[in-house]
Amino acid sequence: MPSPSTLFEASLNDRQLEAVTHESGPPLLVLAGAGSGKTRVITYRIAYLLERSLAPPWGILAMTFTRKAAREMQERVATLVPADVAARLRMGTFHSMCAWLLRKGIEGLNCGRDRDYVIYDRDDSLSLLRRIARERGGSDPSPGADPASCMRMISRCKSGLIDPAEWTDASLSESVCREMRAVYDGYEAGLRQSNAIDFDDILTLCLGLLRRNNDAGGAARPCSGMFSHILVDEYQDTNRVQHLILRELASKETGICVVGDDDQSIYGWRGARVANLLDFGRDFPGTRIIRMERNYRSTGNILKAASTLVSYNRARHSKTLWSEAPPGDPVRELRFATASEEAAWIVQSALDLRDRLNVPLGSIAVLFRTNAQSRELELQARKAGVPYELVGSLRFFERQEIKDTVCYLRLVVNPKDRVSLIRVLSRPRRGIGDKSRQALLQAIDSRPELSPLEVMGDPAGLCRGLSTRAASAMRDLAALLADAAEMDRSRSAGVREIAAFLLTRSGLEDSFRTGLSEDDSRLYNLAELLGMAAQFDLDSPGEGLAEFLAQTSLLTSVDEYDSDAERLALMTLHCSKGLELDTVFICGLEEGLLPLERPARGDARGEMCDIEEERRLLYVGMTRARKRLLLTLSLRRAGYPGRGGFHGRPSRFLSEIGAAGQPAQAPGRDPERVAGLGEDRQGSSEGYRKGDIIRHPRFGQGMVLSARRDGEEWALTVDFGGDEPKTLLTGYVDLPVVARRGSGGRGKTWHAR
Ligand code: ATP
Ligand code: MG
Repeated sequence: MPSPSTLFEASLNDRQLEAVTHESGPPLLVLAGAGSGKTRVITYRIAYLLERSLAPPWGILAMTFTRKAAREMQERVATLVPADVAARLRMGTFHSMCAWLLRKGIEGLNCGRDRDYVIYDRDDSLSLLRRIARERGGSDPSPGADPASCMRMISRCKSGLIDPAEWTDASLSESVCREMRAVYDGYEAGLRQSNAIDFDDILTLCLGLLRRNNDAGGAARPCSGMFSHILVDEYQDTNRVQHLILRELASKETGICVVGDDDQSIYGWRGARVANLLDFGRDFPGTRIIRMERNYRSTGNILKAASTLVSYNRARHSKTLWSEAPPGDPVRELRFATASEEAAWIVQSALDLRDRLNVPLGSIAVLFRTNAQSRELELQARKAGVPYELVGSLRFFERQEIKDTVCYLRLVVNPKDRVSLIRVLSRPRRGIGDKSRQALLQAIDSRPELSPLEVMGDPAGLCRGLSTRAASAMRDLAALLADAAEMDRSRSAGVREIAAFLLTRSGLEDSFRTGLSEDDSRLYNLAELLGMAAQFDLDSPGEGLAEFLAQTSLLTSVDEYDSDAERLALMTLHCSKGLELDTVFICGLEEGLLPLERPARGDARGEMCDIEEERRLLYVGMTRARKRLLLTLSLRRAGYPGRGGFHGRPSRFLSEIGAAGQPAQAPGRDPERVAGLGEDRQGSSEGYRKGDIIRHPRFGQGMVLSARRDGEEWALTVDFGGDEPKTLLTGYVDLPVVARRGSGGRGKTWHAR
């Protein structure tokens, strides 16, 4: 086994080694292309700091974009240093790190929350906003100030540190803006009342906390310098608040190392600022910049196609990625007549790869621009019996049965949580109608000195107008929650036991058994949740429910993705960031979809998203692939975003990729290829007729049932002997006529052609 030092030299190229061994003092910025080893540099640098005793494990903070990435990094570090040392590192996302700091210090902030605060996810925030809209304007929120728009505005203000009183939007009328500001106020009051914070608050409140401690001086312990080394991955996607948090966490002595790639900045729409990366030196004087341009991930053809594409962006630091890898398979472009044919082909190709080339399904991903595109892929995967995993759509924790259970758990920790209370009152149905619920909420509001559980425990005395049944249901619920809270407080039971207790005693579990669900997936999901709780009890003995909730509320959909599972991954391009896969299909390469045109409101025309960011998004997707990259599109698509239907034109990005270098024209054409960039697209010079036998490269021979000319192309309905005839467009796929019924002759004579 090599000694640690030779291990560093053997596993890193010169630039990487420079970054890994950079002597702390001046901050370090690694500005480097996709697959050039940025994440690897962070991992090895941590190991280096530990191996040389330049920092104790608890003095190192590493921030990644997902918890999954943090876990993987931790596992890698554990192969380089003893496991118990690796376990003491602080690694996670900005959000998890900030939630951890807040849990210790939120009370000192005087922001109306205590340490039992809960974190509202987007769904909870929207419920709260819907309630506010109802209270303000009945069922009809003022146009433009609907809950989803308000949510976006609130998030923008918080992540951009914009004072809502000064917020305005030129595309909206002043009255709508005023309404939105008022909703914002109501939303904040609702969060405080519920002892809750939202996702953006995690960062902004934490920034407030850090600033307060750093400015306080005297007895207060400043937070700057808490960690002797801070390392941040994917810095191009940090927002302003995250950048400021880093500034507060760093002291002059802190060793800072951030890595990023301006070409992969894809969260501009969410307030991320690539300027954080490019202007890093302004905020951290003396920064040393290291660039890395050798790509270790992808084959030559993939790298060339991706680099050509991104070279069309003007706002970028130009870099020339190179690789010593062989060119490999050509990047393929395939066009289909309909989205279902496209999806069916992708699923079938994944199966072929598995069955013929032994490619594990888990190393294949299908990427797309919008969540809606997964539907067709899921349908085809189910049809073909291909196990798949939809990453990033409905998170495990957003499933109804899981959310119900979590709301019970949240109420145990924090009875003030209004969104959870409202949900729990009616799950399962227990005879508490709208009126009784309103009466209870009013009683809670009118007795702020009492805990909501106390009010609920004595409904007859404190609320007016309740039915006997509702009153007794409330009492039972209050008693149940109080019992669970006692189990948690005394630590007489772990999280698993408390959750199981609540599920059984509340009747929730039974309601799922007898519910309408056609399968038992809800029960499996509950079992999975109990399993997670049991694991938590094992991993964190003595930590209570609050910590469990904090950890799970910060899980993102990507964290739940397991690439070792034998399942085809379906995910959006955004979700794919940082991942590495053998084979990548990117589908829906059509104008309006990628680049995306935002759906129009009312009669307005759809609006094209920022083209350069869309291009970067495709670049991110393409650079995930190690060996095979397939780009597909369909010329007909239902529910086309922005246009309510239908016709797709090939994405401009395809011609950009194809224009320079023609990557798919590389030698060694794959015999399986259906159509490639620049492939000979001739059909039959004499056109097609009903009764012709044609050959499709994939479906084999089939008979033309109808043929219609469409400009230079033909639309053919062809019977390939399957269940249903297929509709194909010529011009994209080579469809030679192999036999034609003799013209003029009688009988069925066929001429081979
Ligand atoms: P992205 O921009 O997609 O985040 P990245 O710059 O973080 O990529 P890594 O994920 O760190 O790149 O590395 C890409 C791949 O190249 C990984 O499989 C990594 O193990 C491999 N790799 C990086 N550097 C080397 C090296 N010096 N020798 C061998 N393999 C390497
Ligand atoms: Mg990376």
